[in-house]
This record gives sequence, C-alpha cells and structure tokens, in this order.
Amino acid sequence: MLIVNANEMVTLAGDNRKPRIGKQMLELGIVHNGSLAIKDGRIVAVGKTPETTKIYKSENVVSANGKTVLPGFIDSHTHLVFAGSREEELQMRIEEGVPYEVSSRGESVMKTVKETRRASAEKLVEKATETLNSMLEHGTTTAEAKSGYGLTTKDELKILDVVQRLNQMHPVDLVPTFLGANAVPPEFVNKPEDFVNLVINEMIPKVAEKEHAEFCDVYCERGAFNLDQSRRVLVAGKGSDLKPKVHADEMSLLGGTELAASVGAVSADQMLFSSEDGMKAMAQKGVIATLLPASSFSLMNGRYANAREIINLGVPLALATDFSPNCWVESLQLVIAFACHFMKLNAAEAITATTINAAHALSRASEIGSLEVSKKADVLVLNVPNHRFLGYRYGVNLIDKVIKNGRLVVDKESAKDEYQLIGEQET
Ligand SMILES: [Zn+2]
Repeated sequence: MLIVNANEMVTLAGDNRKPRIGKQMLELGIVHNGSLAIKDGRIVAVGKTPETTKIYKSENVVSANGKTVLPGFIDSHTHLVFAGSREEELQMRIEEGVPYEVSSRGESVMKTVKETRRASAEKLVEKATETLNSMLEHGTTTAEAKSGYGLTTKDELKILDVVQRLNQMHPVDLVPTFLGANAVPPEFVNKPEDFVNLVINEMIPKVAEKEHAEFCDVYCERGAFNLDQSRRVLVAGKGSDLKPKVHADEMSLLGGTELAASVGAVSADQMLFSSEDGMKAMAQKGVIATLLPASSFSLMNGRYANAREIINLGVPLALATDFSPNCWVESLQLVIAFACHFMKLNAAEAITATTINAAHALSRASEIGSLEVSKKADVLVLNVPNHRFLGYRYGVNLIDKVIKNGRLVVDKESAKDEYQLIGEQET
C-alpha cells in the first residue's frame, strides 16, 4: 500500500530509544507532501511523495491530499473489561453535588465488581468488543487493558482471559495489566492485609504462570492501598516479571509518585496531587507521567494534573483515556482536546503524548508510536489539513482512515459515499 500527498505527515521520527521530554515533545518530524510505503504490515519507506513513488509502486494507493497522517493513537491506560454501567453517578454529582472521592469510590467500584463477577466471559468479550470498535474508529490502534473488577483470583483471571481473547480476535492490539489491587472487596473489608496477601501469594503467581499480564498496577490511595501495601504488591509483581505501574495521587497526596520512582515503575498515572519532589524523582528515574484529563473531567472537581510543571521538570508525559465505568470515553481525540484546554498542552505535545511516549508507557516503542521504516504500519489519515486541528476541532471524529498492521480497517470516505447515495435516491 502507498499513502501519498499528505499535506502533513507527522512521523515523530528521531531517536526514540527513550520517551521524549521537555522541548523534544514539540518535534513531530513533519513531512509536507508526505508519503508512506507499506509492505507485509510494516512501513518500508517514509518521505516526500515524488521520491517514494519513484521507488515504490502499488495498485493500492491512498490519497491523503489536503489531509494529515499520524501514527495510530496508543491508549496506555484503560479499564477495558467490565460489566454494567454507572450513569446514575453523574446524575448524583449534578443533582446532589455528591463528589466521587475516597469515601464513595469503594462502593462505586463494588457495584461494577458485582456485575463483572456475575457476567460470563462471553458477555464481557461482547461488551468490550463494542468498546474496541469505537476506540478503533477514533484512531486507537493499541490499548492497555487492566483487570481489577474481579478481585477474586478466579474473576481476575477471567478478565485477563477475556483480554487475551480480544487481543486475538480484534484489530486493536491489547497490552494486559493485572490490577488485582484496585480496591479492597467487601469480603475483606475488615482485613485488608489478608487481601493484600491474597494478591501477592495467590493472584500474582497465577497470573504470571499463565503469562496473562505484562504489567502490575496498584490503586495507591487512602481507603484503598497504602504506600507499604502498594510497594509490596509492586515488588511481588516485579518478582514475577510484571512491570510496575501505579495509580498515583488521584484523590490526595499520598506519595504514589515517589513510590513509582523508588520501585522503578514504567509509569505513574493520574497525578492530580503529586508533589514537586515526587515529579523530580520520576524525572531522575525516567518514569512516565500518564495523565488522564478525561478522568478529571468526569470527577468534576476542577482539578487537572500540572502538565506544564511535569514537562518543565523533565518528566516524560503520556496521555490516556482512563476508559472505565467512571470515565466512559473511548476517544483519544477528545482527551487531546481536554489536555489542550485544561492542561495547556499544545497540539504537538499532546500528539507526542498519545503516540511515541504512550508506546514507551507500554514498552512498545521499538514497534509502534512513530512512522519509521520497519515499524508496524499503524497509520491514521485525518480529515484535517494540519496537526493543529487536534484539540482545536473537537466533539466530532476527525478520522478519515485507520490502517492497522498495513490493512485498511476503518474508511470513513466510503461511508460518506453511502450518505450521498441516499441523498440521490431521494431526489
Ligand atoms: Zn485508572
């Protein structure tokens, strides 16, 4: 396949061995009148259209005339698999001003846990497939997927099984994360230590034995898991080759970012209350800050992570949806818009944060996250003339085409033909 004549081809080419920090986040490697050649699912050439087309010929030519081409978006933080929904909580927040906070979180999560435990694997696959379809239509070609709504060994494994099945059957590539320490379930309400021991001594070994996860995450927060418990879970995970991630400082300053740095986590996620010292420690260790502005939007507390300080301190920054029953958003385009408006990221930084830096947050940067020779051909054609439209034009889907592993999987242009056809029939 050949993609030709892109008004802007945003390659993010460069030294991508490490996630980008500071001013590097502005360097998008844009090629004007850009072109891309794909063979066997991989990128074989990137450059100016006249040069690429001199060497490569194809019957399958995609014109990106007047459009912007990007690497596929990478959603590095999602709670993909769960049953049911919690739309009533938004109404409570609106009508009664009930905030989503430490005290109410447990109850909310438990509603989803109950429904997820009851649901069959088939039902969970069916529901998550709909989510993945929607993500793909909005340009997400790789997503992380956490467990955490089972909270028994059996149900956590069921969820991770579902992730594995989805990964085999759906075009979106999934990266599984074990989040057994998401909340203390009601069975253990007066003995949280026993639950932590269950996570460490039974769940993690079983997950590792089945090779069902790559990362181990913990919800480090007051009312959930304290610093000591979180550390023990992450260290046990590391002992079983599960790389650490931390839900850090979402509702209070507990020190989750410092913990992330001290255990050598790949990322600390959320960071609404993180301290400067915590951020400096992350910068030193190269821990990625995965920020979730749609989650802040859903929490309705007006608080967003201090992205500018995070960037200024040299912490690599990624953005993700935090898709969950509390933050039902599949579109990274919307997340970019929130990041631009509420966190004052510019479009280039937000694009870096949802492509190459997000690839690093999932340990996939050698395969995806930029348009470079030998990488997977995960490519987006956007129906906008330049990358600055991301964040600026929002609330609609800017995707024209999604190419996953070199295969055209979403094509809005052909859908447009159908609308025209209907119009013609009516006249
Ligand atoms: Zn989360």
